[in-house]
Amino acid sequence: MQWNSAQAVMAHLAAHPVRHLIDGELVDSAVHAGVINPATGEACGSSPQASRAQLEHAVAAALRAQKAWAQTSFDERRTRLKAFADLLRSHAAELGALVTLEQGRPLTLARGEIERAASLLEAVIGIELGDEVLRADARGKVYFRFHPLGVVGAIAPWNVPVGLAVPKITHALYAGNTVVLKPSPYTPLATLRLGELARDLFPSGVLNIIGGGNEIGEAIATHPDIAKISFTGSVPTGRRVMASAAGRLKRLTLELGGNDAAIVREDADIERIAPQLFAAAFVNSGQVCMAIKRLYVHESLHDRLAALLCEQAASLVVGDGFDPATAMGPVQNLAQFESVKAVLRDVRADPKARVLTGGYAREGCGYFIEPTVVAGLAEGTRLVDQETFGPVLPILSYQTDEEAVQRANAGEFGLGASVWGEDLGAAEAMARQLVAGTVWINRHVGVDPLVPFGGAKSSGIGQQFGLGGLRDFMQPAAIYVPS
Ligand code: NAD
Repeated sequence: MQWNSAQAVMAHLAAHPVRHLIDGELVDSAVHAGVINPATGEACGSSPQASRAQLEHAVAAALRAQKAWAQTSFDERRTRLKAFADLLRSHAAELGALVTLEQGRPLTLARGEIERAASLLEAVIGIELGDEVLRADARGKVYFRFHPLGVVGAIAPWNVPVGLAVPKITHALYAGNTVVLKPSPYTPLATLRLGELARDLFPSGVLNIIGGGNEIGEAIATHPDIAKISFTGSVPTGRRVMASAAGRLKRLTLELGGNDAAIVREDADIERIAPQLFAAAFVNSGQVCMAIKRLYVHESLHDRLAALLCEQAASLVVGDGFDPATAMGPVQNLAQFESVKAVLRDVRADPKARVLTGGYAREGCGYFIEPTVVAGLAEGTRLVDQETFGPVLPILSYQTDEEAVQRANAGEFGLGASVWGEDLGAAEAMARQLVAGTVWINRHVGVDPLVPFGGAKSSGIGQQFGLGGLRDFMQPAAIYVPS
């Protein structure tokens, strides 16, 4: 099969509907929910909705399987997870096509999401997970031994369905935990299909993937037999998950929203970096937690950079992700589409705002928004203060370094930030003042699998990736050994 048209993928789905993976079995549910193709606004498939009994079955299976899984060596887990990475690569065309169908991103980028997930997985399982010596002296030795936590409840969002689910599975399983994973109800197809493909890779119950809505997410977050929640999603839902997890004092990794600032310094080479800035803001139609969402530009460069960004927008082909010409797809779902349109209405009604390009949703079917660049706004407006999560970028002029840092640090978010300039020393000095989980110089977006990634302030708690990220899926025990 070619996996390069929506019709072909939908026909395949109709013949092979996706199922849950529970306790090593592929199972259906009595209730199904439709999945919408955001490029057309029409149904493109359906997902089984796990009942409470099915969730209980999955959690019980994960709990049972965890004891034996925790006894396996790191080498054995590595071998099985490596096979999982191989499977992702060998099915990248199919899984990528499902992502394009349900999420909207262009096919090559969707395939890239699957391949990138495999590469991240391989890098993470290359990290050695041993004891950590804390003190060794005449009194003896003290070291941390790291135990798995138990069952991890993994809850994923819709913006990068497979790319965000696979690291959760990788961290949890490699550390000796078992998993019950729930994808977003907007984008369940590729993730459930992944569960089907992975059925025989792990002992029964080690990996469970179930479809379901927000209520099943909440049931996972409150479940007494789930020891940890790995959640990626919005700040309001993250707060609810944290409250739900409080009953059992569950461990939490919350990867939440961002409103990342990029600061372009006076000495930046804007002709060279404009395409990079544009890509980092409009990647995945702006629906990336760590995309640039506020662009602070030194006043001497503001107008020229704004013009360069408008040129980029003019040459961007927006359309159906199955069209090979498309560089940017639709916004993923109707609620998000309405939310971005409301931001645009606010902008158009603001006398200070200058819409330099875009500003409207496209007429016709699908959830398409024109790439939009807005000048003239400041803090105190919705577009600047909140995470829009769409292809709309405010460009803001600043005068002094102190002002740029203070404005970039304002607000409740602290996921990522970046500084752009030719003088790396000056850029680094500025980077060190920014309060965010990640600060890049002369780039923005992307994780290094060996470097822990997480948010400051309301952008999250805990980390993924690197040794620190893996240890977030384990419980340290300090062992005191006398000399
Ligand atoms: P969302 O919070 O609406 O939903 C995320 C998941 O939570 C879904 O699977 C949903 O079914 C589930 N859920 C909903 N209510 C729940 C509850 N009460 N208890 C438990 N689970 C519940 O998020 P979204 O709209 O799918 O994703 C977009 C958001 O995710 C954006 O804010 C984006 O910035 C953020 N995000 C963050 C990162 C990161 O690494 N920091 C990465 C990607 C996306």
